[in-house]
Parts: sequence; structure tokens; C-alpha cells
Amino acid sequence: MDALFPQFFEHANDALFILSQSGRFVDVNPKFVEIVGIPKEEIIGKTTELFLPGGLAQSQERVKQILREGKLGPYEVEATTPLGKKVLSISAFTFHENGAPVGVIGIARDITAYKQMEKHRQALNTELEQRVAERTAALQRSNEDLERFAYMVSHDLQEPLRTVTSFIQLLDKRYKAQLDTDGAEFIDYALEGAQRMQQLIQDLLTYSRVGTQGQEFSETDCEAVLAQTLHVLQTAIAESGAEVTHDPLPAVWANAMQVAQVFQNLLSNALKFRGAEPLRIHLSARQDGQQWLFAVRDNGIGIEPRHAERIFVIFQRLHPRREYPGTGIGLAVCQKIVQRHGGRIWVESEPGKGSTFFFTIGRKGNTYGQDERE
Ligand code: ADP
Repeated sequence: MDALFPQFFEHANDALFILSQSGRFVDVNPKFVEIVGIPKEEIIGKTTELFLPGGLAQSQERVKQILREGKLGPYEVEATTPLGKKVLSISAFTFHENGAPVGVIGIARDITAYKQMEKHRQALNTELEQRVAERTAALQRSNEDLERFAYMVSHDLQEPLRTVTSFIQLLDKRYKAQLDTDGAEFIDYALEGAQRMQQLIQDLLTYSRVGTQGQEFSETDCEAVLAQTLHVLQTAIAESGAEVTHDPLPAVWANAMQVAQVFQNLLSNALKFRGAEPLRIHLSARQDGQQWLFAVRDNGIGIEPRHAERIFVIFQRLHPRREYPGTGIGLAVCQKIVQRHGGRIWVESEPGKGSTFFFTIGRKGNTYGQDERE
């Protein structure tokens, strides 16, 4: 073993040094000389004060500590050398001879490059985080601007549209008898168009209000919300002959009015897009981590999987209005509501077999939606 040490000392890829009990360099290996850039003969006999800050006292104190405790490190020091500042990771041990401590042997690993890389990486990360935060803030601003714009436009459009509608209605009432069939038909078309526009504006207003209305979240009993929704839809349910069933529903941390809106939109769609089979709709909910996963299943006409994402985009519909009436806003509203409750909404479906709309909502104590606004 003893014979191996000089070879090991000579060829080690880390800097090795031996200090006397009084903290003076007794020996250093070639790697040490290479790292600090000072000839060996100028190092021997000096203390670590030669490279390290803190003066002679600190240098000797550290040696005493190693002798006392048997070992120290790894710890990092910044050494000042003729080759510049170096960050060294040092581990040092007491060196024994015939059972008695005679000095210290240390390993100094040059981690300057690694430290620089780390610093660089951290700077990059900070810059990246900053950029993401800036982009997010900009997006949020433009989103809010758009929302405000949609709200203002739809709100301001209502007034002139009301004037147009009432004058067409007046024309219809007073002059229809004096017109030929073409004229009467034109009035019908104009009235129909105006009514449709009114509906679109109404829906657009609903959509743009999702983010600003219904700020309060509270413990919301979904059983009660569903009962209320079924009451609102009772005529449509009776007309369709649908059988609507549901599992026990939980209480969630949400805005009750908006949960009702999601239930109503999904149920109305299930009623509207029914097939030839007697319609069956089932609502269920199960716990999914910190959230509840709701499912509204129907056995209606279904949706081709390639349209599964598109239908949540505002004004996107898969059927002409003649077949199924609507404005294509219901699911966009659902998505916006679910997202501001910290959840997700999606559909799984097979054409001809039916669709299941899934959405998640936070459990009690999940204040996601509120935190976000603060
Ligand atoms: P609207 O019902 O006014 O058309 P929605 O945004 O609610 O608007 O729905 C968008 C489209 O998604 C619908 O036009 C329809 O093509 C499809 N869709 C929604 N719900 C169902 C359903 N339960 N079954 C089949 N298709 C559906």
C-alpha cells in the first residue's frame, strides 16, 4: 500500500496536498501545481493563506479543526491564483503516522467550469421564467381586452337591432296585407334574420360575461343544482321522452350559477342531438384526486372523434341550422366556466352510439378559481 501512494499522488486527476500540523504545505502533486499555476517550490513551506481569503489565522484554524475532527468537507472555497479565481471543492483528512496525527491530506477538485455553467444556467432559467411571465401577462391582457370588446360590441349592438326588429314587426303588422307574396316572404326572412342575430348577440354576451360574472365560489350541492336544471328543462325532457337518471352527486367548490349553466348546456345538447332510439341520459360523478370527475352520457347521434376538440370552439357546429337549431356557443361557455374552476372538459363519442361529456371541478377547499383572480 505504501508503495502505491507516491504513484497515486503523482498521477491523480484531482489536486492533492499535504499540510503540516502548523498548516504549512509539505507536498503538492502536479495537478495541484497545474490548477493554481504556481511552481511547487514556491508553494512548499507556505500556508493556504497563499490562495485563500481570511489570512493566516483562518488558514491555521481550519487545519486545527481537521486535526480535531479527523476530516472536513467537501466544502467550497474560492482561491485567488495567478490563473484567476478558481472555485475548489475540498475534502481534507487527518494524516497519521505511527498512530499519531502528523498533518492533513487534502483533495481539491477544480469545479470552476461547473460553477460557471451553473450560474449561466440559472441566469438563463431566470430569463426564461421572466419571459414566460411577461408573455402570460400580455396574453391575459389581450384576452381581457377581447372579452371587454365582445361585451361592448354585443351590448351596443342590441339597441339598434331592437329598433330594426320592432320596425320590421310594425311593417309586418300594418302593411303585410298590402304586399304580394314575395313582399310578405321578404318580411318573414328579415324578421327571422333579426331574431337570429338577437340570439347570437345574447349568446355572445353570455360568453363574454363568464369571466366577470359569478365571482363567488362556495360549497355547491350538485344534487340541488341538477334538480333546478331538470325543472328548467322539464318541457324539453317531456317532449323528447328522455329518461334522465343520475348517480348521487357531490358538493363542489364552485359558483352554483355557473355549474347550473354547464349542466343545462350539456343536458340541452343531449336532448337536442338525439337519435332514433328512445333517449337515455345519465349523469355521474366520481372522485379524481383533488377533483370530481363528472360525466354526462347520452345515446344520441354521437360525434366523430376528429371533431372532438373543434366543438368546444366558439361558433363551431357540425350540423346546418335547419337540422338542429343553435348558435354553437354552448360548449364554448361550458369550457370557459370549467376552466375558470380549474378543471378540464372533453368528449368521448362514437357516431351513432352516443356521447359522454366529461368535466372536472375542484373539491371543497380548492380555491383555484378565486386565487387566480386575486
Ligand atoms: P349548439 O348546441 O348551439 O350547436 P354547442 O357549442 O353546444 O352549440 O355544440 C357545438 C356542436 O357540438 C353542436 O352543434 C353539435 O354538432 C355538437 N354536439 C354537442 N353536444 C352534442 C351531443 N350531446 N351529441 C352530439 N353532438 C353534440
